[in-house]
Amino acid sequence: MFAQRLKNLQPYKPGEQPKDIEYIKLNANENPYLPSPKIKEVLKDFPFEKLALYPDPDSHELKCAIAQSLNKTGGVLVPAENQPALDFEITEDMIFCGNGSDEVLSFVFYAFFDNDKPLVVPEFSYSFYPVYAGYYNIDLCKVPLNEDFSLDVESMLDVDSTGIIFANPNAPTGLALSFEKIESMLKIYPKDKVFVVDEAYADFSGYTALPLLKKYENLLIIRTFSKSMSFAGMRLGFAVGSPALVAALTTTKNSFNHFPTDAFCQAASIVACSDIEWYSENCRKIMRTRDSFCKTLSDSGWNVIPSSTNFVLVSKKGISGKVVYEAIKKKGILVRFFDIDIIRDFVRITIGTDEQMQKLLDIMKKI
Ligand code: PMP
Repeated sequence: MFAQRLKNLQPYKPGEQPKDIEYIKLNANENPYLPSPKIKEVLKDFPFEKLALYPDPDSHELKCAIAQSLNKTGGVLVPAENQPALDFEITEDMIFCGNGSDEVLSFVFYAFFDNDKPLVVPEFSYSFYPVYAGYYNIDLCKVPLNEDFSLDVESMLDVDSTGIIFANPNAPTGLALSFEKIESMLKIYPKDKVFVVDEAYADFSGYTALPLLKKYENLLIIRTFSKSMSFAGMRLGFAVGSPALVAALTTTKNSFNHFPTDAFCQAASIVACSDIEWYSENCRKIMRTRDSFCKTLSDSGWNVIPSSTNFVLVSKKGISGKVVYEAIKKKGILVRFFDIDIIRDFVRITIGTDEQMQKLLDIMKKI
């Protein structure tokens, strides 16, 4: 009854969503702030009859809106002072849209990674990468992290690979490689292999590798509306890269589902792109909350991994991550515990509002 291949699937496990009580959810790196209020109007006035028709399969207007917003901000909502400028224009044919960046990543694995050589990933990075590798039967070369959890870039580049993918900033560590480091990797990485940087959390870091697209046609950057754009429920992710890479992703999409970004999502996301000020302000607030939360926690004796994201990985000497997670859950707050060797002592905490983080601090100070 079931296909052979089904036996080999090891599905991704998202953060839990228990329904027994109303928890403060700090376990899925969602944004605690609302999407732009302008979106409410669009959804309210959305032409009802449009629901009976297929959406634009190419998300033309949406791709233009995304390109325009990236050109306007320089690539991230709150650019750091030394983030290099975007000195070229990102055009529609450099953008690919999908139903969340998870789906975009699935197309990336299908389109660019073969199974004759291994795909290079950090041993600990986004846990969907091994899932897709299993799905598409792609061998992985998992390169262990350095002792301080940073990526071992030299070893990653040493592998004769079919491609390379990592999150920057990385998840679940929250650590980022600098723009210069990414460029130094691209300089030596083979130009006929695709180099994928998953920038799901880049807006919270102030840095993006987007300016490097001008020089490196094998660079592909993955972004999402789920985090900094408060749109995890809407499902929109996108890739930015050379027109040739985007065309390959489009062929893949059109061989799987012609219409992954529905009409509602396209309409709402176009408006989201027009209210960059709203999202930049929220992003700034999250970065401020993160920095003060991390400082207070560290001053109270916790080990805090420096974060460039909207989450932070923390541990306390002598207490396992599971015990910390359970103690916090008992008080009505969800954080994430990973039952994985090197981070078993840690919990990952999403940055919420100041009030939510204060509640959490009160609990954690007593642990
Ligand atoms: N990349 C990374 C590094 C992530 O943490 C996530 C969120 N789980 C995603 C991609 C996928 O995000 P989404 O599908 O919501 O766009």
